[in-house]
Amino acid sequence: MGIFSKFKSGFKRGADALQGALSRVSGRAILDEEDLMVLEEALFAGDFGVESTEEIISEIRDAYQKNKSLRGEQINNLARDVLRKILAGSEGIILNESQNNPEVICLIGVNGSGKTTTCAKLGIRFKKEGSVPLLAACDTFRAAATEQLLNWADRLDLQIVSGHHGSDSAAVAYDAYSACESRGCDRLLIDTAGRLHVKDNLMDELYKLKRVLQKRNPTAPHHSWLVIDGSTGSNVVEQARVFHEKFGLTGLVVTKLDGTSKGGALVSIYRKMKLPIYFIGLGEGADDLQPFSIEYYLDSIFPSAEIEANVN
Ligand code: GDP
Repeated sequence: MGIFSKFKSGFKRGADALQGALSRVSGRAILDEEDLMVLEEALFAGDFGVESTEEIISEIRDAYQKNKSLRGEQINNLARDVLRKILAGSEGIILNESQNNPEVICLIGVNGSGKTTTCAKLGIRFKKEGSVPLLAACDTFRAAATEQLLNWADRLDLQIVSGHHGSDSAAVAYDAYSACESRGCDRLLIDTAGRLHVKDNLMDELYKLKRVLQKRNPTAPHHSWLVIDGSTGSNVVEQARVFHEKFGLTGLVVTKLDGTSKGGALVSIYRKMKLPIYFIGLGEGADDLQPFSIEYYLDSIFPSAEIEANVN
Protein backbone atom coordinates (compact mmCIF):
# COMPACT_ATOMS: atom_id res chain seq x y z
CA MET A 1 0.00 0.00 0.00
CA GLY A 2 1.32 3.48 -0.89
CA ILE A 3 1.93 5.99 1.87
CA PHE A 4 -1.03 8.16 0.98
CA SER A 5 -3.32 5.12 0.89
CA LYS A 6 -2.14 4.28 4.38
CA PHE A 7 -3.00 7.77 5.58
CA LYS A 8 -6.32 7.59 3.83
CA SER A 9 -7.35 4.25 5.30
CA GLY A 10 -5.90 5.19 8.70
CA PHE A 11 -7.94 8.37 8.90
CA LYS A 12 -11.02 6.89 7.24
CA ARG A 13 -13.27 7.01 10.28
CA GLY A 14 -12.30 10.58 11.06
CA ALA A 15 -12.84 11.60 7.45
CA ASP A 16 -16.19 9.80 7.14
CA ALA A 17 -17.52 11.56 10.21
CA LEU A 18 -16.63 14.95 8.75
CA GLN A 19 -17.78 14.25 5.23
CA GLY A 20 -21.24 13.38 6.54
CA ALA A 21 -21.57 16.91 7.90
CA LEU A 22 -19.90 18.44 4.86
CA SER A 23 -22.25 16.79 2.41
CA ARG A 24 -25.15 18.44 4.22
CA VAL A 25 -23.74 21.93 3.83
CA SER A 26 -21.94 21.76 0.50
CA GLY A 27 -23.78 22.95 -2.54
CA ARG A 28 -26.63 24.46 -0.54
CA ALA A 29 -27.99 27.55 -2.18
CA ILE A 30 -28.45 29.11 1.19
CA LEU A 31 -25.98 28.30 3.89
CA ASP A 32 -27.66 29.12 7.15
CA GLU A 33 -26.50 29.22 10.74
CA GLU A 34 -27.90 25.76 11.32
CA ASP A 35 -25.72 24.32 8.56
CA LEU A 36 -22.70 25.98 10.06
CA MET A 37 -23.64 24.57 13.42
CA VAL A 38 -23.75 21.05 12.00
CA LEU A 39 -20.29 21.54 10.61
CA GLU A 40 -19.05 23.13 13.80
CA GLU A 41 -20.33 20.22 15.84
CA ALA A 42 -18.69 17.71 13.50
CA LEU A 43 -15.35 19.51 13.76
CA PHE A 44 -15.67 19.75 17.48
CA ALA A 45 -16.60 16.07 17.81
CA GLY A 46 -13.60 15.28 15.63
CA ASP A 47 -11.37 16.83 18.32
CA PHE A 48 -10.12 19.76 16.26
CA GLY A 49 -10.49 21.91 19.35
CA VAL A 50 -12.41 25.11 19.94
CA GLU A 51 -10.00 27.57 18.34
CA SER A 52 -9.33 25.61 15.16
CA THR A 53 -13.03 24.83 14.77
CA GLU A 54 -13.91 28.50 15.12
CA GLU A 55 -11.25 29.53 12.64
CA ILE A 56 -12.52 27.08 10.03
CA ILE A 57 -16.15 28.07 10.54
CA SER A 58 -15.42 31.77 10.34
CA GLU A 59 -13.43 31.24 7.14
CA ILE A 60 -16.37 29.36 5.61
CA ARG A 61 -18.84 32.01 6.76
CA ASP A 62 -16.72 34.79 5.21
CA ALA A 63 -16.31 32.88 1.98
CA TYR A 64 -20.02 32.22 1.80
CA GLN A 65 -20.75 35.90 2.19
CA LYS A 66 -18.62 36.53 -0.89
CA ASN A 67 -19.81 33.57 -2.92
CA LYS A 68 -23.30 32.33 -2.19
CA SER A 69 -22.89 28.84 -3.57
CA LEU A 70 -19.97 27.11 -1.99
CA ARG A 71 -19.34 23.60 -3.26
CA GLY A 72 -18.07 20.77 -1.05
CA GLU A 73 -14.75 21.00 -2.80
CA GLN A 74 -14.40 24.67 -1.91
CA ILE A 75 -15.31 24.02 1.72
CA ASN A 76 -12.69 21.27 1.87
CA ASN A 77 -10.13 23.69 0.43
CA LEU A 78 -11.00 26.39 2.93
CA ALA A 79 -10.66 23.97 5.84
CA ARG A 80 -7.40 22.65 4.42
CA ASP A 81 -5.98 26.19 4.12
CA VAL A 82 -6.84 27.07 7.72
CA LEU A 83 -5.35 23.84 9.02
CA ARG A 84 -2.27 24.14 6.83
CA LYS A 85 -1.46 27.42 8.58
CA ILE A 86 -2.08 25.98 12.03
CA LEU A 87 0.09 22.96 11.29
CA ALA A 88 2.97 24.92 9.76
CA GLY A 89 6.20 23.61 11.27
CA SER A 90 4.62 20.42 12.63
CA GLU A 91 6.48 17.93 10.43
CA GLY A 92 9.37 16.44 12.35
CA ILE A 93 12.15 15.45 10.00
CA ILE A 94 14.70 12.83 10.81
CA LEU A 95 17.60 12.50 8.44
CA ASN A 96 18.62 9.10 7.28
CA GLU A 97 22.28 9.96 7.65
CA SER A 98 22.64 11.09 11.23
CA GLN A 99 25.50 13.25 12.49
CA ASN A 100 25.42 11.25 15.69
CA ASN A 101 26.65 7.73 15.86
CA PRO A 102 24.81 6.14 17.47
CA GLU A 103 21.85 8.42 17.31
CA VAL A 104 19.87 7.93 20.49
CA ILE A 105 16.07 8.15 20.43
CA CYS A 106 14.11 7.88 23.68
CA LEU A 107 10.43 7.06 23.66
CA ILE A 108 8.62 8.27 26.71
CA GLY A 109 5.03 8.60 27.81
CA VAL A 110 2.31 7.14 29.95
CA ASN A 111 1.44 3.45 30.01
CA GLY A 112 -0.42 2.12 27.03
CA SER A 113 0.37 5.06 24.78
CA GLY A 114 2.19 2.80 22.32
CA LYS A 115 5.88 3.21 23.20
CA THR A 116 6.88 -0.44 22.92
CA THR A 117 5.03 -0.93 19.66
CA THR A 118 6.47 2.31 18.27
CA CYS A 119 9.98 1.24 19.28
CA ALA A 120 9.65 -1.94 17.22
CA LYS A 121 8.01 -0.12 14.30
CA LEU A 122 10.83 2.44 14.25
CA GLY A 123 13.39 -0.35 14.38
CA ILE A 124 12.10 -2.07 11.27
CA ARG A 125 11.61 1.23 9.49
CA PHE A 126 15.19 2.34 10.09
CA LYS A 127 16.49 -1.10 9.20
CA LYS A 128 14.65 -1.01 5.88
CA GLU A 129 16.20 2.38 5.24
CA GLY A 130 19.68 0.90 5.66
CA SER A 131 20.41 1.78 9.29
CA VAL A 132 21.59 -0.72 11.86
CA PRO A 133 19.29 -0.06 14.83
CA LEU A 134 19.41 -1.57 18.28
CA LEU A 135 16.41 -1.68 20.58
CA ALA A 136 16.84 -1.12 24.31
CA ALA A 137 14.09 -2.64 26.45
CA CYS A 138 14.34 -0.18 29.32
CA ASP A 139 10.81 -0.74 30.54
CA THR A 140 12.06 -3.05 33.26
CA PHE A 141 9.14 -2.01 35.43
CA ARG A 142 6.58 -4.01 33.47
CA ALA A 143 7.76 -7.58 32.74
CA ALA A 144 5.40 -7.91 29.80
CA ALA A 145 6.93 -4.87 28.10
CA THR A 146 10.37 -6.47 27.82
CA GLU A 147 8.80 -9.70 26.64
CA GLN A 148 6.73 -7.80 24.08
CA LEU A 149 9.80 -6.00 22.70
CA LEU A 150 11.83 -9.23 22.65
CA ASN A 151 9.04 -10.83 20.61
CA TRP A 152 9.01 -7.96 18.15
CA ALA A 153 12.80 -8.08 17.83
CA ASP A 154 12.67 -11.80 17.21
CA ARG A 155 9.93 -11.50 14.62
CA LEU A 156 11.53 -8.57 12.81
CA ASP A 157 15.09 -9.77 13.22
CA LEU A 158 16.21 -6.69 15.12
CA GLN A 159 19.03 -6.40 17.61
CA ILE A 160 18.00 -5.86 21.19
CA VAL A 161 19.44 -5.42 24.68
CA SER A 162 17.17 -6.12 27.64
CA GLY A 163 17.38 -6.53 31.41
CA HIS A 164 15.60 -8.54 34.04
CA HIS A 165 12.25 -7.52 35.36
CA GLY A 166 12.82 -4.95 38.07
CA SER A 167 16.42 -4.25 37.11
CA ASP A 168 17.78 -0.73 36.82
CA SER A 169 16.52 0.72 33.56
CA ALA A 170 19.40 3.21 33.39
CA ALA A 171 21.85 0.29 33.55
CA VAL A 172 20.07 -1.36 30.61
CA ALA A 173 20.36 1.89 28.65
CA TYR A 174 24.06 2.06 29.49
CA ASP A 175 24.63 -1.53 28.35
CA ALA A 176 22.63 -0.92 25.21
CA TYR A 177 24.75 2.11 24.36
CA SER A 178 27.90 0.01 24.81
CA ALA A 179 26.41 -2.75 22.66
CA CYS A 180 25.64 -0.20 19.95
CA GLU A 181 29.26 0.89 19.89
CA SER A 182 30.75 -2.57 19.96
CA ARG A 183 28.37 -3.95 17.32
CA GLY A 184 28.54 -0.89 15.08
CA CYS A 185 24.85 -0.01 15.40
CA ASP A 186 23.99 3.51 14.34
CA ARG A 187 20.65 4.02 16.05
CA LEU A 188 19.68 3.27 19.62
CA LEU A 189 15.93 3.13 20.22
CA ILE A 190 15.05 3.24 23.88
CA ASP A 191 11.71 2.03 25.15
CA THR A 192 11.21 3.49 28.63
CA ALA A 193 8.80 2.47 31.36
CA GLY A 194 5.36 3.97 31.06
CA ARG A 195 4.81 5.99 34.12
CA LEU A 196 2.26 8.21 35.56
CA HIS A 197 3.58 11.66 35.04
CA VAL A 198 2.42 12.52 38.55
CA LYS A 199 4.69 9.95 40.22
CA ASP A 200 7.82 11.82 41.20
CA ASN A 201 10.07 8.86 41.97
CA LEU A 202 9.34 7.30 38.61
CA MET A 203 10.07 10.55 36.88
CA ASP A 204 13.38 10.71 38.74
CA GLU A 205 14.24 7.29 37.38
CA LEU A 206 13.66 8.57 33.90
CA TYR A 207 15.95 11.48 34.62
CA LYS A 208 18.60 9.05 35.83
CA LEU A 209 18.39 7.15 32.55
CA LYS A 210 19.12 10.38 30.71
CA ARG A 211 22.06 11.26 32.96
CA VAL A 212 23.58 7.81 32.52
CA LEU A 213 23.30 8.09 28.73
CA GLN A 214 24.95 11.50 28.89
CA LYS A 215 27.92 10.00 30.70
CA ARG A 216 28.49 7.95 27.57
CA ASN A 217 27.68 10.76 25.19
CA PRO A 218 27.00 14.32 26.39
CA THR A 219 24.81 15.05 23.37
CA ALA A 220 22.49 12.06 23.97
CA PRO A 221 19.59 11.52 23.76
CA HIS A 222 19.38 13.20 20.39
CA HIS A 223 15.64 12.82 20.25
CA SER A 224 13.21 12.51 23.16
CA TRP A 225 9.78 11.85 21.81
CA LEU A 226 6.61 11.85 23.81
CA VAL A 227 4.38 9.04 22.59
CA ILE A 228 0.74 10.11 22.79
CA ASP A 229 -2.37 8.05 22.27
CA GLY A 230 -4.20 10.17 19.69
CA SER A 231 -7.49 8.42 20.32
CA THR A 232 -7.79 9.69 23.88
CA GLY A 233 -6.28 13.14 23.56
CA SER A 234 -7.03 13.79 27.22
CA ASN A 235 -4.73 15.78 29.49
CA VAL A 236 -1.85 15.58 27.03
CA VAL A 237 -0.73 19.06 27.85
CA GLU A 238 -0.27 18.33 31.52
CA GLN A 239 1.53 15.07 30.67
CA ALA A 240 3.79 16.84 28.25
CA ARG A 241 4.59 19.62 30.70
CA VAL A 242 5.81 17.22 33.39
CA PHE A 243 7.79 15.05 30.99
CA HIS A 244 9.28 18.13 29.43
CA GLU A 245 10.39 19.51 32.78
CA LYS A 246 12.07 16.27 33.79
CA PHE A 247 13.42 15.04 30.54
CA GLY A 248 13.19 17.69 27.86
CA LEU A 249 11.04 16.73 24.89
CA THR A 250 12.10 17.26 21.30
CA GLY A 251 9.08 15.89 19.48
CA LEU A 252 6.00 13.75 19.40
CA VAL A 253 4.77 10.44 18.08
CA VAL A 254 0.98 10.30 17.94
CA THR A 255 -0.37 6.74 17.89
CA LYS A 256 -3.71 4.99 17.33
CA LEU A 257 -5.03 7.53 14.86
CA ASP A 258 -6.56 4.64 12.94
CA GLY A 259 -9.92 3.50 14.16
CA THR A 260 -10.79 6.80 15.78
CA SER A 261 -13.30 9.27 14.44
CA LYS A 262 -11.29 11.99 16.17
CA GLY A 263 -8.93 12.73 13.30
CA GLY A 264 -8.61 16.31 14.47
CA ALA A 265 -6.79 15.27 17.66
CA LEU A 266 -3.54 15.75 15.84
CA VAL A 267 -4.35 19.40 15.19
CA SER A 268 -5.26 20.16 18.79
CA ILE A 269 -2.22 18.29 20.06
CA TYR A 270 0.12 20.26 17.84
CA ARG A 271 -1.62 23.51 18.55
CA LYS A 272 -1.17 23.02 22.28
CA MET A 273 2.32 21.59 22.29
CA LYS A 274 4.08 23.15 19.33
CA LEU A 275 6.44 20.20 19.22
CA PRO A 276 7.14 18.59 15.85
CA ILE A 277 5.29 15.38 15.11
CA TYR A 278 7.84 12.90 13.80
CA PHE A 279 5.68 9.86 13.27
CA ILE A 280 2.08 8.81 13.49
CA GLY A 281 0.74 5.35 14.33
CA LEU A 282 -1.95 4.10 11.98
CA GLY A 283 -2.32 0.50 13.12
CA GLU A 284 -0.82 -2.31 15.15
CA GLY A 285 1.33 -3.82 12.41
CA ALA A 286 5.08 -3.36 12.07
CA ASP A 287 4.75 -1.06 9.09
CA ASP A 288 1.85 0.99 10.41
CA LEU A 289 4.05 3.92 11.35
CA GLN A 290 4.38 6.85 8.98
CA PRO A 291 6.40 10.05 9.06
CA PHE A 292 3.92 12.84 9.60
CA SER A 293 2.99 14.68 6.42
CA ILE A 294 0.75 17.74 6.62
CA GLU A 295 -0.43 17.37 3.02
CA TYR A 296 -1.26 13.66 3.27
CA TYR A 297 -3.05 14.32 6.51
CA LEU A 298 -5.14 17.18 5.12
CA ASP A 299 -5.92 15.28 1.95
CA SER A 300 -7.09 12.31 3.99
CA ILE A 301 -9.29 14.29 6.33
CA PHE A 302 -10.66 16.73 3.75
CA PRO A 303 -10.29 14.82 0.48
CA SER A 304 -10.66 16.54 -2.83
CA ALA A 305 -12.38 14.91 -5.78
CA GLU A 306 -9.16 15.03 -7.77
CA ILE A 307 -7.18 13.18 -5.09
CA GLU A 308 -9.92 10.58 -4.73
CA ALA A 309 -9.78 9.92 -8.45
CA ASN A 310 -6.01 9.46 -8.35
CA VAL A 311 -6.08 7.07 -5.45
CA ASN A 312 -8.95 4.90 -6.57
P1 GDP B 1 3.22 1.17 25.96
O1 GDP B 1 2.66 0.75 27.29
O2 GDP B 1 3.29 2.66 25.84
O3 GDP B 1 4.51 0.51 25.63
O4 GDP B 1 2.14 0.73 24.85
P2 GDP B 1 2.16 -0.52 23.86
O5 GDP B 1 3.19 -0.34 22.81
O6 GDP B 1 2.23 -1.78 24.66
O7 GDP B 1 0.75 -0.35 23.17
C1 GDP B 1 -0.48 -0.48 23.86
C2 GDP B 1 -1.51 -1.05 22.91
O8 GDP B 1 -1.76 -0.12 21.86
C3 GDP B 1 -1.07 -2.33 22.22
O9 GDP B 1 -2.18 -3.20 22.17
C4 GDP B 1 -0.67 -1.90 20.82
O10 GDP B 1 -0.85 -2.91 19.86
C5 GDP B 1 -1.62 -0.76 20.59
N1 GDP B 1 -1.10 0.23 19.63
C6 GDP B 1 0.08 0.89 19.64
N2 GDP B 1 0.17 1.74 18.59
C7 GDP B 1 -0.98 1.63 17.89
C8 GDP B 1 -1.51 2.27 16.70
O11 GDP B 1 -0.92 3.13 16.05
N3 GDP B 1 -2.76 1.86 16.30
C9 GDP B 1 -3.48 0.92 17.00
N4 GDP B 1 -4.68 0.60 16.53
N5 GDP B 1 -3.01 0.33 18.10
C10 GDP B 1 -1.80 0.66 18.55
